[in-house]
Amino acid sequence: MTKYIAKIGLEMHCEMSETNSKVFSGAANCYTEVPNSNVRPLDMAFPGTLPVVNKEAVRLALMASMILNCKQPEVLQFERKNYYYPDLPKGFQITQETKPNPMGIYGECEYEFGDEIRKCRINNIHLEEDAASLDHFYKTSNIDYNRAGVPLLELVTEPDIHSADEAVAFLEHMRSVYQYAGISEADSKKGQIRCDVNVSLMDEGLDEMDPANWGTKIEIKNVNSFGGVRDAINYEIKRQTEAKENGTYDEMEQQTRRWDEESGTTIFMRSKADAIDYKYYVEPNIPKIKIEKEWLDEIRKSIPELAMDRKKKYISEYGLSNYDAGVLVKDKNISDYYEKCLELGIDAKVASNWVAVNIIGELNKEGTDIREFYLTPEMLKQIIEGINSGILSSKQAKEVFTKALEEKKEPKNYISKDNAQISDEGELTSLIVKILDENPQQIELYKGGRDNLFDYFVGQVMKNTRGKANPVMTKEILHRELDKR
Ligand code: ADP
Ligand code: MG
Repeated sequence: MTKYIAKIGLEMHCEMSETNSKVFSGAANCYTEVPNSNVRPLDMAFPGTLPVVNKEAVRLALMASMILNCKQPEVLQFERKNYYYPDLPKGFQITQETKPNPMGIYGECEYEFGDEIRKCRINNIHLEEDAASLDHFYKTSNIDYNRAGVPLLELVTEPDIHSADEAVAFLEHMRSVYQYAGISEADSKKGQIRCDVNVSLMDEGLDEMDPANWGTKIEIKNVNSFGGVRDAINYEIKRQTEAKENGTYDEMEQQTRRWDEESGTTIFMRSKADAIDYKYYVEPNIPKIKIEKEWLDEIRKSIPELAMDRKKKYISEYGLSNYDAGVLVKDKNISDYYEKCLELGIDAKVASNWVAVNIIGELNKEGTDIREFYLTPEMLKQIIEGINSGILSSKQAKEVFTKALEEKKEPKNYISKDNAQISDEGELTSLIVKILDENPQQIELYKGGRDNLFDYFVGQVMKNTRGKANPVMTKEILHRELDKR
């Protein structure tokens, strides 16, 4: 039986949340405030208004283009994509359509997929404007223009992806790139990432690079979560495989579908014959913009350290495991927190354990962001110093950690010499000798083979010191003193 290979191409839209203003107007780049409060006449399409290209948006888009190993343009050009929808007051979207003028073309991106490195070719990356947002009610709809004109970066891949999981790994990689490069928070929960997913099947054994061998492209529009991307692709592969097997695949027309979360299916929207003709033409109100080579060099030099770079550093310089390094760099804010700990002088491995285990565990439990986490790196340092100076055992350190979080008080309030560990050899020995003298029967039973009585003696020492005896030393001394009996 013929086997099939899925060919998947992604169109990933990401709002650039890190510019101050919108892409063609001076309104603030923020739409979480009161509706229609961040709006300029241009965003409302008032006659006589003219777009002004946001240089910072261009700079960040070019940076993304460089990270994706794309070719940057010599001249930037914008196009009008004409269609009417209530969230688009101008009746067109300003975008970049015609090669070679978008922010980047012909790129390639390497990303981690499990233990492997995968490659995906990038068709292009371009800058455009977001639409307003609509809120639908029973009989009316509200329009909020705050989002109209927010800079949007659209990345188009070649169909080099072969499974739903690979697609999600690619998107996670890109989210990390956008975060680390300071381009966007890339938070899909805030609606900052939206994807169109293209899927077709190809018979196994054919040359994948030859588009003539590709199957019919089915486009799934506007999937707005990574989970949705995964489910939509899996559903579509299954649907198309069934069509292959019952012989109807070849009749299938190129079409656009939408992902329906509720039913977990993709639903037909339109076929190629009904494709919208956007009547693209060059945006006449934006002059062509020459990109100076010096500016490109400057941008290239300013690309920040990305997740992969940090991960390599954590492994080779700090001696962390591949796994721990991966956990720490996954979220830039967590990695920043970790780096702050090291700046404060906390040992790299010690900090890694605290952050990767205790802190991430706590964040997951509470569903919070590390930027809102009560315990700052400075406070973590108080705990670590408590351990290093012998005041806290590791168990006590965890208790201080939990208490500080519960009561929202700095850890130093719970660390004092009074609860210091007893690590004095002489003091512990005399206490242990006394306890053994008081328990001749237990010693006899222990000598007779009841090994678990050892824990009883440890328990007695802890009881007498209210848990402050150094546990390692206690055991050593106990063994020694018991051997003497
Ligand atoms: P259009 O011109 O209709 O927008 P493109 O050729 O520009 O289509 O491709 C849009 C997206 O669809 C890209 O991500 C591309 O990789 C993907 N794509 C193109 N052909 C196929 C195919 N046969 N199977 C799956 N994805 C495809
Ligand atoms: Mg687009």
